[in-house]
Amino acid sequence: MLFEQERRFQILLAASEISDPTDGPFAYQTWYDYNQRYFDDQLLPVPIVFGLVPHGRALSHYDGYRRRELLHPSLFVPQGENPWHVLPILGRLLAAEVILHDMIHMRVWQLCGSRGKGASSHNNPFFIREINRLAPLLGLPANASLIKQQRTGDRVQWVHLPEFLSRGELAVWPYGMRPADYFDAESFPLLDQLIHGHSKTKKKEDGV
Ligand SMILES: [Zn+2]
Repeated sequence: MLFEQERRFQILLAASEISDPTDGPFAYQTWYDYNQRYFDDQLLPVPIVFGLVPHGRALSHYDGYRRRELLHPSLFVPQGENPWHVLPILGRLLAAEVILHDMIHMRVWQLCGSRGKGASSHNNPFFIREINRLAPLLGLPANASLIKQQRTGDRVQWVHLPEFLSRGELAVWPYGMRPADYFDAESFPLLDQLIHGHSKTKKKEDGV
């Protein structure tokens, strides 16, 4: 990072040691390390704050307009009985991968704005390219490809080839691609829960 960006980062880190001493410095240090390791130190520092995330179930949200990273506090200290129904994997390992996911959003915003000139914040050429670039570095398959709409009769659907990631999988990459034991959680339907979450579990509970 250039001197001025480094200075800003150190200010943000110092502030987090006061405002979020439990997990703030960890989040900033993770961001800093990943910026060096995966993004050639090119991402600009942003505030990382903790709070409720818009759009319901999300674990985090990068607000590119405000240039602010928002992490749900339950990622670190679970509140409620079983947040997102992924209680066994909550903690710093998952939080670090959630931060990495949002760093891809930061990269796309820095390059070309919110949706990377594509269909969505995940299904766009820049996000897809970043996944395929990072995947080998993380020990994951580089299997992201733009997902297109196809018409079948009267219906128009988003269709992805089986060997490539679905829209739901793009939204939880890379942590959703990890085996559950990566997070020290034995035998746990991680990907399914992350994508379908509460609604599917609730249906099961309701016996539907
Ligand atoms: Zn995302």
